[in-house]
Amino acid sequence: MSLVANIIVDVPTLQTNRPYTYSIPEAFSDVIEPGMRVVVPFGNGSRKIQGFVVEIKEQKTTEMELKPVESLMDSYPVLTEELLRLGGFLAYQTFSFQVKCYQTMLPAVMRAKYSKKIKIIDEIPESLLWDVFKGKDEVSWEDAEKQNALTQLIQLEKEDKVEIDYDVQDKAAVKKVKKVRSILSFETYEEIKADIRSNAKKQKLFLDILQSTDNETALTYAELKEWGITSSTIQSGVKKGWCEVYHEEVYRDPYASSTFERSTPLSLTEDQAHAFNEIHQTIKDEQHKVFLLKGVTGSGKTEVYLQTISEVIDKDEGALMLVPEIALTPQMVQRFKSRFGDQVAVLHSGLSNGEKYDEWRKIEKEEAKVVVGARSSIFAPLKNIGIIIIDEEHETSYKQEEFPKYHARDVAIWRGEYHDCPVVLGSATPSLESRARATKEVYTLLELKSRVNDYPMPEVDVIDMREEAKSGNHSIFSEALLDGLKKRIERNEQSVLLLNRRGFSSFVMCRDCGYVLECPNCDISQTLHMDTKTMKCHYCGHEEGIPKKCPKCESRSIRYYGTGTQKVEKELKELIPEAGIIRMDVDTTRKKGAHEKLFNQFERKEANILLGTQMIAKGLDFPDVTLVGVINADTALGLPDFRSAEKTFQLLTQVSGRSGRGEKEGKVIIQSYNPEHYAIQYAKQHDYDSFYKREMHLRHISEYSPYYFLLKISVSHENEMTAAKKIRQYTDYIRPALSDKAIVLGPTPKSIARTHNRYHFQVLIKYKQETGLTDKIHQLLQETQKEQAKGIFISIDYQPLDFI
Ligand code: ADP
Ligand code: ZN
Ligand code: ZN
Repeated sequence: MSLVANIIVDVPTLQTNRPYTYSIPEAFSDVIEPGMRVVVPFGNGSRKIQGFVVEIKEQKTTEMELKPVESLMDSYPVLTEELLRLGGFLAYQTFSFQVKCYQTMLPAVMRAKYSKKIKIIDEIPESLLWDVFKGKDEVSWEDAEKQNALTQLIQLEKEDKVEIDYDVQDKAAVKKVKKVRSILSFETYEEIKADIRSNAKKQKLFLDILQSTDNETALTYAELKEWGITSSTIQSGVKKGWCEVYHEEVYRDPYASSTFERSTPLSLTEDQAHAFNEIHQTIKDEQHKVFLLKGVTGSGKTEVYLQTISEVIDKDEGALMLVPEIALTPQMVQRFKSRFGDQVAVLHSGLSNGEKYDEWRKIEKEEAKVVVGARSSIFAPLKNIGIIIIDEEHETSYKQEEFPKYHARDVAIWRGEYHDCPVVLGSATPSLESRARATKEVYTLLELKSRVNDYPMPEVDVIDMREEAKSGNHSIFSEALLDGLKKRIERNEQSVLLLNRRGFSSFVMCRDCGYVLECPNCDISQTLHMDTKTMKCHYCGHEEGIPKKCPKCESRSIRYYGTGTQKVEKELKELIPEAGIIRMDVDTTRKKGAHEKLFNQFERKEANILLGTQMIAKGLDFPDVTLVGVINADTALGLPDFRSAEKTFQLLTQVSGRSGRGEKEGKVIIQSYNPEHYAIQYAKQHDYDSFYKREMHLRHISEYSPYYFLLKISVSHENEMTAAKKIRQYTDYIRPALSDKAIVLGPTPKSIARTHNRYHFQVLIKYKQETGLTDKIHQLLQETQKEQAKGIFISIDYQPLDFI
């Protein structure tokens, strides 16, 4: 009998998407645990890679010689038993590689980095020895590459003259500080002081300090320096046996410089109390239940979250609070830090890798009980979860668009079941899927029907932009909106202006021949970027200068179309020169902390108008905002996406909620070319329920979600014919596994048929219940491995959010 480890190796291919068994050397047998990362040899060469231990077991004498685990990368399991299991589930459900799922669960700094070295093991040509190896016996892969010697060296490897060594390095670095601790008794220090020369002032002072602290209290070098104690004094103190120096792990705290005033629970309104009680009951009963908390903007959902989390902390359990990345504003973080102080860990993309790692460590070591973060925080290593909350649950950013293509909501429910705890999905405009599940009583519906303090919902005017044009106004701004903005400036109130970026981009078109500048690699027009003064392809990253004349007909009447935030800002400045404007878009918020800075400026009323894209629609609470303007409400309505009405309704409702949050009455002005569209009309009336009914009806007759599930299979190849042939072949392969209730759409070319010089085809499968489908697709993936290696890419998207 001997101990062996089952390990998922970091080779993301289908062939290797299963555990490999390794022997465990004596030296590790006491410490190795499932969930640790290890380095293992893989394949025939000297290749060393990272792996995750998923199981340790006894094995009887082996017929086959097992390779040994080479080294441990962790001193503790970085993935819990639960997360190991979750990874297996995700890999199966989302058709991803298990190792990718595990890597997704860890902070970026913990993902492996490989550095390769080439070592001489036999005689090699003189010239190489001097030019490339510089007389030494090894050279890094990068240096060999720079010398253009790689091909030659790879040949030599085949002849066993050199070997290529893969070094796995752990990028995660724990930050440590040096601390000083006294180790002697009060009396002993007294004796030492008596013996010391009277002119050794520094040493005396140091002894005084040591004497005045007990042996538990640590002093940092920085603190001692303030007293004038230098490190050489400390060193000599250590030598004389006065004190001890040791290293302590510290966390980089992104909020170290902020102070948070303590907030106390508010007394709940009747609706809030009802919601709280229902959720609290399941916390007490340790029962898994999914709640849909539907409450208009400003109805106090966050207060319900805070108070239920408080109950969970009292039980000494952890809480997971997810918000969309763009809603992770300083205001949101503040509310959690104010209530729960140091117990809160915050995870979002604005943190440095080091900061993210430190927040993760705090959670892992159970020093932080409340995790507030964006999508990937759903994998936070909390060991004992008492509640999981997803705010703005309808947000599409909860679905990851890369592999593994998971939806945070599904993961939340999986973890909620595992921990027997409630999952709360909150929104003013729930996704149709969640709202429908609540109707079917799969989820429990909790409603907050009105705004706290009964502030009225803002009045919404819809302006028909076609009429504006008819009456001669060709500006971006309608009379009414312009007027509203001016009035707010006079009254010293503030306005928020939203430019809807979805389904909309600035492009360049020739007025004479209609030529549109397209990407040479993709079938899509390039987008104009004023900041860099270039044209860019958003798919493949191709970039070129702005053409001065039409490449096709040489005409000089080549013009920019579309409305970017910069253009809006420029026009606004001309129309209202006295306006102070803060522009918020991808360009002005690229730098770390830029978001926060701009919001703070607006909060301090350094500007009258906050102009921005989708990122300003959420989570903001500024009491002096009394006007919200939507410049283009309907750009997304024309998209070939069955969710475009839903998304438009959600966006308009969200942004309307930014108005009138204080005591002053709020107003919303929506500019539209389809003012009669039901998504706009119901948003105007703040009428989610009617919108829901109408939209459900449409989904029903057109057989879409939530009536049907969706699965998308995409195939791409450099050759159009090959791609077309393969997708047909794969569709025919799957068809027999489907019941006659499933609907197969396609195969068809994708709406952007070519990107990166590859041709894309897709097939959509709509189904209600197909028990054999997932297995069949896994079979397809297995059987087409060889073709995939030959450049036929196949990708499966379970419940895709877009399919255009
Ligand atoms: P939502 O998350 O639903 O948009 P918020 O939780 O942000 O709503 O609440 C809106 C405002 O009302 C906040 O300023 C909040 O502090 C306040 N508020 C919430 N609940 C109460 C309450 N029970 N009593 C008084 N004020 C409250
Ligand atoms: Zn032209
Ligand atoms: Zn391109």
